[in-house]
Amino acid sequence: MTSTVTADLWWIRRDMRLADNPALLAALESGAAAPVFPWGDPLGRWSGRRIAHLARVLFSLREDAGGAVAVRRGSPADVLVAAARETGATAVHAQREYSPAGIREQEAVEAALAVSGVELRFVGSPYAVAPDRIRNGSGDPYKVFTPYWKAWTSHGWRAPAGDPDLDRLVALESDVSLDQYAAHGDSSDPLTSPVEFRESRWLAHLTDFVESGLADYPEDRDLLGVDGVSHLSAPLAFGQLHPRTILAALPQGEDASAAFARQLAWRDFHADVLFHHPDAQRWSLTPTHKDEAWLDDRDADESFLAWRTGRTGFPLVDAGMRELAETGTMHNRARMVVASFLVKDLLIPWQRGADYFRRALIDYDHAQNQLNWQWVAGTGRDAAPYFRIFNPTTQAKKFDPDRAYVQRWVAEVDTPAYPEPIVDHAHARERYLASALPKGERA
Ligand SMILES: Cc1cc2nc3c(=O)[nH]c(=O)nc-3n(C[C@H](O)[C@H](O)[C@H](O)COP(=O)(O)OP(=O)(O)OC[C@H]3O[C@@H](n4cnc5c(N)ncnc54)[C@H](O)[C@@H]3O)c2cc1C
Repeated sequence: MTSTVTADLWWIRRDMRLADNPALLAALESGAAAPVFPWGDPLGRWSGRRIAHLARVLFSLREDAGGAVAVRRGSPADVLVAAARETGATAVHAQREYSPAGIREQEAVEAALAVSGVELRFVGSPYAVAPDRIRNGSGDPYKVFTPYWKAWTSHGWRAPAGDPDLDRLVALESDVSLDQYAAHGDSSDPLTSPVEFRESRWLAHLTDFVESGLADYPEDRDLLGVDGVSHLSAPLAFGQLHPRTILAALPQGEDASAAFARQLAWRDFHADVLFHHPDAQRWSLTPTHKDEAWLDDRDADESFLAWRTGRTGFPLVDAGMRELAETGTMHNRARMVVASFLVKDLLIPWQRGADYFRRALIDYDHAQNQLNWQWVAGTGRDAAPYFRIFNPTTQAKKFDPDRAYVQRWVAEVDTPAYPEPIVDHAHARERYLASALPKGERA
């Protein structure tokens, strides 16, 4: 269907939902809104699994929107300029992004639209408290999490926004076939039954988690063999749920609610750090080692392969890496252990691990990934000290005491087929510490 009425555009970014969506509501204020998702080049760097996930999320969104979600190939600037011309839009409404790539993208769109006299209007962000909203008493961005968390809690966030009038959505033609991208691995018939990708499924999942998982969250969130976490990171990464919606669903005044909100505050904190230090996406904020201290290329390649394929001989590391390869996700405790192992036991820079996670994770989020890697490596602003090194064997005893997680992902763990450890942890630990920069030389 081609537009016959004048309509502003809703530029769909990481806000793939209809409920509680200020950008969509702002677009509808013009009378009618045409939702558009530009299917651009950066997707070429995504894994097939993540692209398939995106295709299914968009398919579900389009179904929920009565067909009115256009997916068009091209850069956001080209796609939005053309769509604005088609609908006679005077403005494009979008959620603001704060990552270096997101900022570059929105600047390009703003400039291209301005040539046609169309305004780009920002409404909302993917965060409960957007980057740069809170600063410390001296007016500087927070460097450490705990004071940030206190300021975040007292700053607060908006109440969820209302529901849109879907009858006023305008359907533009799509030129990207989502079916083509939706097939990946075992789920070759996804578009006929996209229930698990729907926004409503995640809203229901949130209610279930609050009713039956939240109370035990503080105790269970670190246990690998127990389903003690919310699994909300993928819908958050795609914007199927806004953190504000989640925070509004948490019962007030309960310790478990605070423990859960604290994790959402980490998400906002990392976005804030990356916004103020865009170089942190690539460079250590506080380097721990000289460049030449890292393992040289050939040894690093061999160790990296063992790590990536889950064949290090350390069952918890291998379980985590196999979970990631098979499912596109990994438990947070395992993420910390495998990341520490790569950097501290294998002496491989965190950036290499972060790049692999970028390709493998469905819930990939640039700020969360890069800054969590820096946290584990001990190179971040709010760093776990670099000399605190996870022992993968004691971590397994503590967080997977009955070995349910390891046995689930490493079936051959107790057989001769399982590899010997590729490093001696005690020796690797000493090697890592001995090659660290002296305290005074750490930036
Ligand atoms: C090396 C490494 C890389 C990571 N990469 C990513 C990533 O690319 N994308 C991503 O969303 N998370 C990332 N995380 C954080 C965390 O592992 C996941 O958010 C979490 O495992 C998701 O599962 P959940 O939704 O069940 O979490 P829950 O424990 O149920 O937490 C609820 C929500 O809080 C937020 N949260 C929880 N822990 C963290 C954290 N450490 N940092 C920031 N936010 C957090 C997430 O949005 C999560 O969905 C990474 C962690 C590490 C150690």
